Amino acid sequence: MIIYKSREEIELLRAAAQVVSRTLGKVAEAIEVGVTTLELDAIAESYIRSQGAEPGFLGLYDFPNTLCISVNEQVVHGYPTNEPLKDGDIVSVDCGAILDGYYGDHAYTFAVGNVSEEKLKLLKVTKECLDIGIAQTRVGNRLGDIGYHIQKHAEDNGYGVVRELVGHGIGQTMHEEPQVPNYGRRGRGKKIKEGLTIAIEPMVNLGTEQIKYLEDNWTIATADGRASAHFEHDVAVVDGEPDVLSTFKYVEEALAKKKKK
Ligand code: MG
Ligand code: MG
Repeated sequence: MIIYKSREEIELLRAAAQVVSRTLGKVAEAIEVGVTTLELDAIAESYIRSQGAEPGFLGLYDFPNTLCISVNEQVVHGYPTNEPLKDGDIVSVDCGAILDGYYGDHAYTFAVGNVSEEKLKLLKVTKECLDIGIAQTRVGNRLGDIGYHIQKHAEDNGYGVVRELVGHGIGQTMHEEPQVPNYGRRGRGKKIKEGLTIAIEPMVNLGTEQIKYLEDNWTIATADGRASAHFEHDVAVVDGEPDVLSTFKYVEEALAKKKKK
């Protein structure tokens, strides 16, 4: 069952999403060659708690950390480790927080040091896929319109769209109905209605869409070992239009400041 949200609930979701947005901004300040992903995890956890919120992933499905960090060929669900990040890595950082009983869940893929043109283009196109999906999130459309346009943009660029993992409704639980696939057919699926709140999260591979599970039976990686990118926003339908509850503003500000140095 899809739980449509009131304006008040949407504002609670926005507040939670904004905690995650600011947390990703803190990660953006810290991420560089030589930093370990466990260090990034500690920064995120302490920041979330400083905001009166709680990490949303910690303990969910027995996940032991605050961030899911997936490097290069890892698609999603990666565990933070003691391994330092290397020049040329791309790093998906997915973060959840709970504030006043509502969840925020969003993700950004960072370029570390000097990243190849090939990987930079993957990041750019995957982020465009997210924006294209958001633009479809309006009354009058169906869920299939979101997936169709995300898939089309990725495949027009020669990339593979992961099928096994999808976006989702979000509210007082992290994963609600409906599922929001990053592929699909135009005009198919459930109608998009006022008060729908979803996390849209394209996962796009440089190579084929095939994935595999790593030995930990949890982390998902591309089957061909080529890179994968992942961007995620929380989106509500308000007055028939998409209202993006999370923001990359803090990430972009932090990255611009670093560039200047
Ligand atoms: Mg999600
Ligand atoms: Mg997420």
